[in-house]
Amino acid sequence: MCYCMQIVVEFHLTVEAYAAGYAALTYPRPERCPNCGTAGQIEGHGFYWRYPLDVFSRFEIGIKRWYCRACGKTTSLLPSFLLRFRWYLLAVIQSMVVARFETRQSWRQIETTCTAAGAPSNRTLKRWCRSFARQAPAWLAAVQQTLAEFEPAAPGLDPLGAAAGPVAPAPALLDAALQLLAWGKTRWAELADFGRAERLRFLWHWGYGRGLARLI
Ligand SMILES: [Zn+2]
Repeated sequence: MCYCMQIVVEFHLTVEAYAAGYAALTYPRPERCPNCGTAGQIEGHGFYWRYPLDVFSRFEIGIKRWYCRACGKTTSLLPSFLLRFRWYLLAVIQSMVVARFETRQSWRQIETTCTAAGAPSNRTLKRWCRSFARQAPAWLAAVQQTLAEFEPAAPGLDPLGAAAGPVAPAPALLDAALQLLAWGKTRWAELADFGRAERLRFLWHWGYGRGLARLI
């Protein structure tokens, strides 16, 4: 794990394509250091290694690092298919969170349909769901603010009507992420391939860039 400064980057690659091609990618060089703000002092600093997991396999990928000559801090470029501090691919974690909060499956059902040979463990998937539920209110507020600003007619702004009372943030965020993606598609042509399965990938990239540090 890397505890240096991180920027979440959308490379529009699957983890397989990234693993095969990361050494040859052109990486965006930050103009200013995210730590100290100094411009023009960022130089290449190789890669660090991560070994992301899906249910059946383990990948080996290089994460690009930049070094700031002014403050000596390292900044790395985290592909948006990964979260900070989680070993599993975001797509795997999303499938569990959706199973729990959207399709309302029991822990046992999730274990049966989404895990293999005990991986990820029951404890891990419960931890993901708890973490998602804890972070959801802040993310939901940010998404709703953006949708209200740009898409005042978006249905998710008041999904059940004011009379229905408070909505559970985790399922509401999963729904709002779909609306955010629909909005994003009207602005960024490169999102054309993104569907339901990429909604948290888009949300993560979008929100991290706005200062929301942790999604799950
Ligand atoms: Zn710096």
